[in-house]
Amino acid sequence: MPNTCSAQNKAGQSCSAQAWKGGLCRWHHPELEPQRAEERRKGGAARSNASRARRRMAAEAMTPNEIQGFVAVAMRGVMVGSITPGIANAVASLARAAVAVREASEIEQRLAELEQRAGVTDRRWRA
Ligand SMILES: [Zn+2]
Repeated sequence: MPNTCSAQNKAGQSCSAQAWKGGLCRWHHPELEPQRAEERRKGGAARSNASRARRRMAAEAMTPNEIQGFVAVAMRGVMVGSITPGIANAVASLARAAVAVREASEIEQRLAELEQRAGVTDRRWRA
């Protein structure tokens, strides 16, 4: 039987990992604590960056009406000369992208619902 770690886990059971040094595993050995702390810090930062990005995206997502409104403002702006055709083109192109993404996600959602109702469990074709 290989040497197992002599520490206990949070539930009070003995750790079942293989001992690394001094009868302790890599997760329990104090020598590796700075490394573990750094990994926890990085993990925490990555999680909070991701959640900040998600909140910001949710706040900035536009409804179809809002997109339509921006396109209308750009059209009028070009006609009265307050917006350059270049800016209006950029607005039009972003609006097309937003509509395409929305359509794709709606189709994906409807497909998933249909698959679920049909009892399709094969996920080979899913991302
Ligand atoms: Zn251990």
